[in-house]
Amino acid sequence: MSTAFYSHSDCRLHDMGPGHPECPQRLDAISDHLLATGLDIALDFKDAPLATLEQLERAHTAGYVMQLKDLLERVRAAGEPKALDPDTLACPGTLNAALRAAGAAVAATDDVVAGRAKTAFCAVRPPGHHATRDETMGFCFFNNVAVAARHALDVHGLQRVAIIDFDVHHGNGTEDIIAGDERVLMCSFFQHPLYPYSGAVPKGTNMINVPVPPYTRGGELRDMLEAMWMPRLEQFKPQLIFVSAGFDAHREDDLGQLGLVESDYEWITRRLVDVAKRHAQGRIVSCLEGGYSLSALARSVAAHLRVLAEVA
Ligand SMILES: [Zn+2]
Repeated sequence: MSTAFYSHSDCRLHDMGPGHPECPQRLDAISDHLLATGLDIALDFKDAPLATLEQLERAHTAGYVMQLKDLLERVRAAGEPKALDPDTLACPGTLNAALRAAGAAVAATDDVVAGRAKTAFCAVRPPGHHATRDETMGFCFFNNVAVAARHALDVHGLQRVAIIDFDVHHGNGTEDIIAGDERVLMCSFFQHPLYPYSGAVPKGTNMINVPVPPYTRGGELRDMLEAMWMPRLEQFKPQLIFVSAGFDAHREDDLGQLGLVESDYEWITRRLVDVAKRHAQGRIVSCLEGGYSLSALARSVAAHLRVLAEVA
């Protein structure tokens, strides 16, 4: 069974301007590298559908979904970007990109639950893990992974899903949405202190937060994850694993100061595949979050995908 690879050309049309690190070229770097390495032949390429409002409202308040959609429609009609915070710009292409990003995560979930794919990767933007129930933040509009996790629980009737967040930044939005929802175990590590400066004290007993200091390297991090994530994941027995796959903890990435390399992403992914095979019929849905050094991003996504697709 193959690995689904969801993306859409609309995700390139969200453009926050020259010099913004969360840029359309991130997706080009990933797809170019997949072609150059021949990894593309191991993947089942699919176009991301648009998420529906009903799907978004499983993670966000109805008022937020309606107001953000209205705002993004006005920006599209005006043809001019509008800053929502110092980091996050709504642009004419944002609405469809954001709906495709969440829609990809939902469709990928449908695929793995139906057995059409064993694993799936969503090469989408904007990312999602800083978007809270009712706030855009840190390049994020809709929380793609949280929307998909709730879809798995509420629509497909799964009882336990895990969310793994290995972005260098704390996934405060996902924590805001998921904390206290005991059907979900969220495991993350993140550089601390660093934007958004949260996470040192978890908001719920279903959160395993591992804050790590700047300049932590892969070997030290692996030991921490082995000790803090793995026993809880084994005990929880997730029926599906979601991944907030940010690659900005890479040592070449300037948005953080951690020292991970491709082999660390390979190791993390392999440990997740092990857990998924034992408890989740191998099912993993991974969604791109951060990762801003284009070359390191592409190489790290490839390392992640080689394990997900079981390419030797
Ligand atoms: Zn990040």
